[in-house]
Amino acid sequence: MNLILLGAPGAGKGTQAELLVKKLQIPAISTGNMLREAIQNGTELGAQAKQYMDGGLLVPDELILGIVKERVAKPDCEKGFILDGVPRTQAQAEALDRMGVRIDHVISLEIDDQVIESRMTGRRVCKNCGASYHIAANPPKTQGVCDECGGELIIRADDTAETVRKRLQVYHASTEVLKTYYQRQGKLVLIQGDQSIEQANRDILSAIGAKA
Ligand code: ADP
Ligand code: ADP
Ligand code: ZN
Repeated sequence: MNLILLGAPGAGKGTQAELLVKKLQIPAISTGNMLREAIQNGTELGAQAKQYMDGGLLVPDELILGIVKERVAKPDCEKGFILDGVPRTQAQAEALDRMGVRIDHVISLEIDDQVIESRMTGRRVCKNCGASYHIAANPPKTQGVCDECGGELIIRADDTAETVRKRLQVYHASTEVLKTYYQRQGKLVLIQGDQSIEQANRDILSAIGAKA
């Protein structure tokens, strides 16, 4: 089962990806997490990506396609994978098709721009594994500590009000067209993102024909 999670920044892609990983026993591939890890590790990729991410802009397609191509070729992706936050442009989607990366379902988490801001100001992410929390809607068991790995929870550098606005603009200008792209391929599923995390997850599982 190869899935894509599509949606505005803060729509809940990372949160749903984590639940689907546990349920479906397939890995999530989050380009955002991979890029943040590259920045933390001081790699060349990180150095190239940082300026774009800090500005709320998209990282160039070539960089993204390189890391995704390498990742989906790993053995743990043989039974399937969840693409979280990629593709984000029509060029990325076309390139995945050309590479022969088969996609079964594209899940678009639908949410109004007005809801995003409160989500982002409350978001905390694990510095170590990238897991996403919310101080009110999805708090960790111990404040400031990741349930999954014990890592430190931090505020993402790009979760400032100004950068979030920029990222929303970028979503509407460059990513939203992917809904049409995948609808034409008969793969698009719309899921209401503004409901409880658990209910959204049940809707996704039922839409892709998996047992809840
Ligand atoms: P969110 O979904 O909250 O916007 P992500 O972690 O998916 O956050 O992405 C954070 C940033 O990483 C983006 O603003 C962008 O700069 C970069 N990025 C992540 N994935 C992609 C991608 N597929 N194409 C281009 N840039 C990306
Ligand atoms: P994305 O990966 O799409 O940027 P996240 O999964 O990181 O989004 O979610 C953004 C923020 O909203 C996080 O703080 C997360 O805990 C919270 N969140 C996710 N889904 C919901 C939901 N259904 N209701 C309320 N808050 C949510
Ligand atoms: Zn963690």
